[in-house]
Amino acid sequence: MPLLAPTDNVVISRRDRAQPTEPEIVMENRWCSACGCEFSPRPQAPRQAYCTKPECRRERRRLWQMAKRRSDPDYLANQTQAQKAWAARNINYWKQYRTDHPSYAANNRSRQRSRNNKRKQPSVAKMDLSQASDLLETGHYELRRIGVSPVANMDPWIVKITVLSRAAGPSTIAL
Ligand SMILES: [Zn+2]
Repeated sequence: MPLLAPTDNVVISRRDRAQPTEPEIVMENRWCSACGCEFSPRPQAPRQAYCTKPECRRERRRLWQMAKRRSDPDYLANQTQAQKAWAARNINYWKQYRTDHPSYAANNRSRQRSRNNKRKQPSVAKMDLSQASDLLETGHYELRRIGVSPVANMDPWIVKITVLSRAAGPSTIAL
């Protein structure tokens, strides 16, 4: 049996006939609130104020978060919590890293030791000169940093030391 009897009133419409097109929305160009460059906003975001550069997107997000933190105490609390959790994870990360890389930790320790040693050496300006006040005369001296490796040794500085006073107690000198 045929699907359509000749008497049936059938209207076959053409599907591929051109559909009426939506009016094209032409967005006016505007200037990015972050970088100031001209851009055309997407039709879906007519209020778009930032261009699509990554740094401008970041700026937009940063400002959004700042406003959100001010206006939404729950959001602020969440963020604070997340940051604490991140810091805790990070500490654990470095602890684990030092455990997994013993040489890294050893190098760090020796660098810290040498920094500490350097700190222990008295600087010239802090030296108590009461003992030396009779020996130290105004004049030119070679100033050489001690306690550094020979490779890093530089030519000594020529400095002029002027004895300002020889009163009892530490002498005062000017370099
Ligand atoms: Zn921009």
